[in-house]
Amino acid sequence: MKILVLNCGSSSLKYQVIDMDTRNPISKGLVERIALQGSVLTHGTASRKKEVIKTEIKNHTQAIELVLKQLVAPEYRALKDLDEIYAIGHRVVHGGEKFAKSVIIDASVMKALKECIDLAPLHNPPNIAGIVACQKMMPGISQVAVFDTAFHQTMRPFSYIYGLPYEYYEKYSIRKYGFHGTSHKYVSQRAAVLLKRPLAELKLISCHLGNGSSIAAIRGGRSIDTSMGFTPLDGLMMGTRSGALDPAIVTYIMDKEKFNVDQMNDFLNYKCGALGVSGISSDFRDIELAAEQGNNRAQLALDIFEHDVKQYIGAYAAMMGGVDALIFTAGVGENAPSMREAICKDMGFLGIHLDLEKNKVRGEEVDVSEINSRCPVLVIPTNEELMIALDTLELTR
Ligand code: ADP
Repeated sequence: MKILVLNCGSSSLKYQVIDMDTRNPISKGLVERIALQGSVLTHGTASRKKEVIKTEIKNHTQAIELVLKQLVAPEYRALKDLDEIYAIGHRVVHGGEKFAKSVIIDASVMKALKECIDLAPLHNPPNIAGIVACQKMMPGISQVAVFDTAFHQTMRPFSYIYGLPYEYYEKYSIRKYGFHGTSHKYVSQRAAVLLKRPLAELKLISCHLGNGSSIAAIRGGRSIDTSMGFTPLDGLMMGTRSGALDPAIVTYIMDKEKFNVDQMNDFLNYKCGALGVSGISSDFRDIELAAEQGNNRAQLALDIFEHDVKQYIGAYAAMMGGVDALIFTAGVGENAPSMREAICKDMGFLGIHLDLEKNKVRGEEVDVSEINSRCPVLVIPTNEELMIALDTLELTR
């Protein structure tokens, strides 16, 4: 049984066809620069190397058309026929308070998705465009929406309500939503398997550290708090995003730099974070290299990031009354031993003792803590596409 997983961004589209018997992708790829000059599709199959196709792609419908064409192209042999696709799973960024789990897409879901556009103006419209394009091209095939926010809908009001007049929550839906939910859910489920313990009895702290980063406190398989908030700008300092700030800084900078709302939004999302502090790059590999070569601001960016992560680990351990395992995932979490080492330093009071030899691992599913460490430290490569496919299969079977 094969599931097509789609992740439509504003100018990009990532896709995978996953064989649910093996749980492995049989084909995956990426369309970039949709509706821009220089559109390109990079298509891969399990057996062949990547194929790069440069052609004009005006919108998401054309992008999906092109992807479907490649999937059944005889030279790649990913699929014999589109009928082999059992169902389609879409990553949808924002489900607001309307969706606490994945859903089969019907007319009422489409209406609710459109109502969430206000909360994620950059992300939800391309997600919706992808769904509409699939409805047109594969009308008989069931489609499922899997939300980044859904996993965090289990947070309690004292975690998600901000210190603002309550009617702003009622009028404008301003509250903490949290993101990366599909990733946090996936790694927490894998952690239970690795620890050979029921998820229902575990207190986990999941650190999704990539370009965008968030941390979640997960008790009994349910998210009870997370570092991202109303938008994915909150919480940790990230590659280019500021993370949490004193809110007064926003109006202060707007005044000093004469920024309007859009300029300020752009500034906070793309010019801050590790890029802004280091002045070098948003990529942690570049920053680590510069720090090794003695660049103080690069080292400062790494120190801030590590400090931020530590703060959340401490806060969430306090909130849950302890922690049974710490999880590292995503680009930095999976691949940066030095960052894991810096974060876990002096955490013995929580039972966290890293085994520095085991910690050299990159991108493998493994416990990197010392053998008698009270709190295992798990590196778990995230797999949001598989999680989306699993939810899709469960709902459509
Ligand atoms: P996104 O949030 O875009 O999904 P990823 O989870 O793919 O991001 O993480 C990308 C980041 O992971 C890169 O910016 C890079 O800083 C970091 N990264 C990847 N590999 C390494 C590595 N070997 N060492 C340090 N950082 C790495």
